[in-house]
Amino acid sequence: MSGIERAIRARILRDRELLREAAAAVLDAAAVTSSTPWRPDGNSVNSPGTYVAIAYQCFGDAEWMALTDPTLAEPLAAVFREAADEHEQHVDDDTGDHERCGGTVLSDCSCFVAVYLMAVHLLVKAGRIPTPE
Ligand SMILES: [Zn+2]
Repeated sequence: MSGIERAIRARILRDRELLREAAAAVLDAAAVTSSTPWRPDGNSVNSPGTYVAIAYQCFGDAEWMALTDPTLAEPLAAVFREAADEHEQHVDDDTGDHERCGGTVLSDCSCFVAVYLMAVHLLVKAGRIPTPE
């Protein structure tokens, strides 16, 4: 196996683990939050019986924060786990060939791009990986 082939294999395996790490990150973060549902109320975000946060810039900030309350953690983790499972079962570790679409990850297979970008975003925000260069 050439150096390039080893690098491709390492990247393929790392991306799969990144998806699993994103699932863990959202569940870990949700486990220590205020009760749900969160609801926007003007510039504040409230959970049942208390305030969660005050958004000082605009009401839209509070609405956005309430959209992503911890109820979203489990289904979002499921998306990451299912993508990792699909990747593990149907992407060749050595070549990156994705049998379902006939493309190659890191090339002409775009099947994992959106979920991978979400995972990277969340892992950077969670401080679990550095900001990509
Ligand atoms: Zn694909």
